[in-house]
Amino acid sequence: MFKNLQHTTTLHNGVKMPWLGLGVFKVKEGPELVNAVKFAIKQGYRSIDTAAIYENEAGVGQAIKEAMEETGLSREELFITSKVWNSDLGYESAIAAYETSLNKLGLDYLDLYLIHWPVEDKYKDAWRALETLYKEGKVKAIGVSNFQVHHLEDLLKDAEIKPMINQVEYHPRLTQLDVKPFCEKNGIQLEAWSPLMQGQLLDHPTLVELSKKYNKAVSQIIIRWDLQNGVVTIPKSTNEQRIVENANIFDFELSNEDMELINSLNQNLRVGPDPDNFDF
Ligand code: NDP
Repeated sequence: MFKNLQHTTTLHNGVKMPWLGLGVFKVKEGPELVNAVKFAIKQGYRSIDTAAIYENEAGVGQAIKEAMEETGLSREELFITSKVWNSDLGYESAIAAYETSLNKLGLDYLDLYLIHWPVEDKYKDAWRALETLYKEGKVKAIGVSNFQVHHLEDLLKDAEIKPMINQVEYHPRLTQLDVKPFCEKNGIQLEAWSPLMQGQLLDHPTLVELSKKYNKAVSQIIIRWDLQNGVVTIPKSTNEQRIVENANIFDFELSNEDMELINSLNQNLRVGPDPDNFDF
């Protein structure tokens, strides 16, 4: 079913998005960032996930440009995501933030633009801005991040366009038992951030057992579990060996039984902020 790094899921508006991409959270501008993104693209990654708040869009853009020059890939073959930060969630400010992100990235469109966090009383204005950008053809797909079911229900009451994506924290300790089925029912593709729980799951005994059984790294077991659960995923690494490792998941399949075993590790445990209780 999942063939390789270029394999895509089709969002509800027909846009195709790779199942697996590269995250760059906490990676500072500089050679480590540029080299990692460039290396990943050369290894076959097509999807890169950044955000205004990561303050690394310029480096991501430089890496994209250099990778395209060096590989001959066209812009259309890549899938670039960024996110509007909380301080820009007004209508005009979100539109301006999109332009700023584009300029920093050196691109003339994004494949996906997300509302980064569901700031109460603000995300609806920002959503109207994203709808405008989408209707004007400036962005291929729009979505949200860190939206709980009640945020989505509230947004959908007024939305003209349904989000194509909800990017949330998702890993074996947090399987999003209510958000996931809600998104599936509504045709909103779920996307996992911190799929590796920022490294905290790599010595989990059950996952280590599965790692031995399948002769795969724990990170590979988790990333494969994401895909088999129908969840797009964007593990972060700047290490070349791990960038390769995280993508080497297309030559095995977890059994239904082992999928259930991993699903059963859920404890509703977060490594990041709680979307119902954050103060930024
Ligand atoms: P991840 O769960 O992807 O974990 C990244 C950590 O795991 C890094 O320390 C990395 O180190 C390490 N790692 C990666 N691969 C391996 C491997 N194969 N073996 C061992 N260690 C490994 O965490 P992130 O929080 O970075 O999440 C992924 C992406 O999701 C982000 O980069 C960002 O793009 C997005 N995100 C979105 C959020 C949102 O609010 N929408 C919030 C947080 C993240 P090293 O680099 O040294 O390999």
